[in-house]
Amino acid sequence: MKDCLFCKIINGEIPSNKVYENEDVYVFADIHPQAKVHMLVVSKVHVADMAHTDALTDKQLSACLRACAIVAKTCGIHESGYRIVNNSGADARQTVGHIHFHVLGGEQLHERMG
Ligand code: 5GP
Ligand code: ZN
Repeated sequence: MKDCLFCKIINGEIPSNKVYENEDVYVFADIHPQAKVHMLVVSKVHVADMAHTDALTDKQLSACLRACAIVAKTCGIHESGYRIVNNSGADARQTVGHIHFHVLGGEQLHERMG
């Protein structure tokens, strides 16, 4: 989608530190990490948020979760533990309107999530 930051990262217009890619997802390091490991798993199909996932196939949506597990293993945090976060919409303070999942770990995370 034109003028979407994550679409531009996926198509290489904006550089990123890519850690994984397949036909459904693109994964890269968050520019402002909120944990020692902070990756962003982004659907290659542009939908704004979880309210619009009807526009994704089950394969495309589940690929996001699968990629979180793959990337956690790649980053070596699959055994110590990690958190997967999806901010969806204004109340969740989503800042980039292209669906994505944060993978956070590499240290003990805050008890409070909200
Ligand atoms: P949200 O707030 O929408 O859940 O998450 C958006 C995330 O994208 C934020 O954690 C933010 O740091 C990250 N981000 C914003 N712009 C860029 C960028 O240009 N490159 C990368 N790698 N991450 C970005
Ligand atoms: Zn997009």
